[in-house]
Amino acid sequence: MNKPPHAMLVNGEWLHGEDGTLVSQNPATGEINHEISCAGVNDVAHAVATARTAAESRAWVTLLPHQRAAILHRISDLLQNNAQHFAHLQMIENGKVMSECVAQAKSAAATFRYFAAACETVDEDLTPARGNYLSMSTHEPYGVVVAITPWNSPMTMEAQKVAPALAAGNAVILKPAEITSSTALELGRIALEAGLPPGLLNVLPGKGGVTGSALVSHPDVKMVSFTGGTETGKRIAQIAASRMIPVALELGGKSPHIVFDDANLDAAIKAVAAGIFEGSGQSCIAGSRLFVQRSVFGKVVDALSEIARSIKVALPHMNGAEMGPIASFAHRDKIESMVQEARDAGAEILAGGSRPTAQELAQGAFYLPTVISGIDNRASIAQREIFGPVLCVFPFDDEEDLLQQANDSPYGLAAGIWTRDFPRAWRVARGLQAGTVWINTYKQLSISTPFGGYKESGLGREKGIAGLRLYQQRKSVYVGLDV
Ligand code: NAD
Repeated sequence: MNKPPHAMLVNGEWLHGEDGTLVSQNPATGEINHEISCAGVNDVAHAVATARTAAESRAWVTLLPHQRAAILHRISDLLQNNAQHFAHLQMIENGKVMSECVAQAKSAAATFRYFAAACETVDEDLTPARGNYLSMSTHEPYGVVVAITPWNSPMTMEAQKVAPALAAGNAVILKPAEITSSTALELGRIALEAGLPPGLLNVLPGKGGVTGSALVSHPDVKMVSFTGGTETGKRIAQIAASRMIPVALELGGKSPHIVFDDANLDAAIKAVAAGIFEGSGQSCIAGSRLFVQRSVFGKVVDALSEIARSIKVALPHMNGAEMGPIASFAHRDKIESMVQEARDAGAEILAGGSRPTAQELAQGAFYLPTVISGIDNRASIAQREIFGPVLCVFPFDDEEDLLQQANDSPYGLAAGIWTRDFPRAWRVARGLQAGTVWINTYKQLSISTPFGGYKESGLGREKGIAGLRLYQQRKSVYVGLDV
């Protein structure tokens, strides 16, 4: 199977889109990687028709579960065996350090393995009968599912949507983010190589307002799974509501990370630093608001500022690189202007707050790990998602004060708590408005544990068996036994 560079994949064929091209730029060096062909409205119509035919033929959904699982296992194996290749594609497009890209490629392989296993082991339900009949509730696919992904962790997000949607028996159209299309196209290529019938996974790169919007609005699309910004998510939800189709929305975050004075401070400080600076802070679950009990506030914040100053910001392929660039120049500029705005409003910049000065980083979209103090939780920089390596720190006095501040956010994706007092950890965990709470750990994720947001951080839960059911609708069947 030959793949022309950076075309779109429809029905097993590599085609060029009608909506021009997007330029992929390496954010670490400023070099142009390649151009990506963009799907227009007619391409969307063609891809949806193809996917609908694949879904309605019922060849995939009626394939025995263990046979469907075998193909998903082969996709997993190909991802695992080509992890370095996938990682490199991601690294040159979004600038994440190579070690993290490799870990994400392997995590994507593990996701396919998990849903392959789920596909062949998950039960249907026989429900309690109230007469002489059998009653059961089965799970059926929606048909054509659209998966729309962001640029920060494309491989993991793509796997998190495509694997369960296929395992559930659907045909999928994957629309990657503008600046990170390559891993999605490569996933399409290996899916064909693994034996997935053409038309079941189509990959349409393109602009959100053109390709994404046309996909969500298409009458034959029966479910949308979206990860990205909250404003985009709201727009998609409005269209989906008017079409009466289900949506799963994984959106933004501004997660509180909390340190009580009885915590193992060394462990907490390391976790807080990793929780915000890993991936240059471009993570929906970044612990971007740090709340520290007042008696240890100075000590914790000093140590964190020291770590921020010592993080090795480097070209992402370099050995020992701890932080790469921001994923695009436009996004780096946005982070920079948000920090400047806070500085102008009187915030104190304890670390970072500027671009690095090293000569070898001068052509890239780099920004230093930044710690900001002297602001209120109501300040704009503490309320808006920055999606960069910027930590805002706040003291708190007691649990009531803490919960009031921590929950005072439009978002509710995740939260972290450090304390040795377990009853307190439990009380605070129950009081926090967040879809995931970590106690004495942070950013621990597992494909078998549901993930999603409260409030403006989203709707629905991905991962786990619920992550498979997300892509199915229930049908109840009664069988009379009196005949
Ligand atoms: P974005 O919303 O700009 O774009 C996400 C995707 O939506 C892209 O593929 C884009 O092309 C597409 N899109 C844009 N406009 C569209 C429209 N009108 N119709 C359909 N599709 C459209 O987000 P981004 O900047 O790529 O990603 C960063 C955001 O993603 C952050 O807010 C981050 O918190 C969020 N995110 C959330 C999670 C999570 O699991 N909750 C994970 C990663 C990222």
